[in-house]
Amino acid sequence: MSKQSIYGLTYDQLSDWLMERGQQRFRVDQVWNWLYKKRVSQFSEMKNVNKQTIELLEKHFVLHTLDEEIKQESKDGTIKFLFKLADGNLIETVLMRFNYGLSVCVTTQVGCNIGCTFCASGLLRKNRDLTSGEIVEQIMNVQKHLDERGDGDRVSHIVVMGIGEPFDNFTNLMDFLYVVNDDRGLNIGARHITVSTSGLAHKIYEFADTGIQVNLAISIHAPNNELRTRIMKINKAFPIEKLMKSVDYYLEKTNRRITYEYIMLRDVNDHKEEAEQLAKLLYNHRHLAYVNLIPYNSVDEHNQYQRSESATIQAFFETLKEKGINCGVRWENGADIDAACGQLRSKQIKKTNVV
Ligand code: SAH
Ligand code: SF4
Repeated sequence: MSKQSIYGLTYDQLSDWLMERGQQRFRVDQVWNWLYKKRVSQFSEMKNVNKQTIELLEKHFVLHTLDEEIKQESKDGTIKFLFKLADGNLIETVLMRFNYGLSVCVTTQVGCNIGCTFCASGLLRKNRDLTSGEIVEQIMNVQKHLDERGDGDRVSHIVVMGIGEPFDNFTNLMDFLYVVNDDRGLNIGARHITVSTSGLAHKIYEFADTGIQVNLAISIHAPNNELRTRIMKINKAFPIEKLMKSVDYYLEKTNRRITYEYIMLRDVNDHKEEAEQLAKLLYNHRHLAYVNLIPYNSVDEHNQYQRSESATIQAFFETLKEKGINCGVRWENGADIDAACGQLRSKQIKKTNVV
């Protein structure tokens, strides 16, 4: 069996692991510090850690399981990374620059089983879940790239919105969140992290119960079951009533605002009627709701959909506002470099016939 990535262990897991092997407690802090503050690329660089501990770590863990295949930089500063995993699978990670900081979009699965009809990743069925180590390593690789540039830049925000359904890989997602949020390491604030789900209601309860302060986004995309099932078949398993029940629970438990993502598909879900239905659906939660309208990014794999006209997006936005719903439009970053979710990966797969 190949060695595990050390980045997959939370602080407590690393601590237990080292203690079980007779290591002293202060070693945990030392190792953690070298991993996440000094960001070494080899265990032997951990200067104040004794040889015996280094050998123990080297025997069981690795620091690299991701290989950078492609790095594309856009004019607006967006950088898209394509990584090859140890088993040859390809995943994407995107770094975006905003006025409030540097945000990284991470992938949680190889492919996705949810199968939304508008999504490039949904077409390639799930091959496997990513380990927590592989998710953390995406952040580490981007941060190390920034370190090499020498501008003192730091990843300040994370969106779990790359390929995959994060709540279908829940344990590894949570370990990832605990690692990046840990204030002894990368210390990326929970309020600066957003997890997006297609609406796995049972996991929304579980997420609320963890008590973590990370933001939640729900891909709603349609305000009624008939339309939502047509564009997202997951709606059959978790129809809107079930989803909204889990939302009630989440809001009661956390009192945290939820973002609802709504992809704008021309003549499909962008009429005034749908805006009104959406406003009605969210009205009782409007103080803790924000709708993010996402202009559809056309993907080579689908010709079934087009992006809504700008004027239609604007009108949808106005209707929501009039009805008292907070909302905004997400104009994309990196438009010149295949920044839409799953695009670089699917192009590369087609070129190399990996699957
Ligand atoms: N699986 C999760 C998270 C990854 S998808 C989810 O579905 O929420 C992240 C967001 O990108 C979702 O809101 C999704 O609907 C959106 N998305 C997928 N394909 C897109 C496309 N072609 N254009 C614009 N947004 C897209
Ligand atoms: Fe999966 Fe999200 Fe794409 Fe749907 S939109 S297929 S849930 S990655």
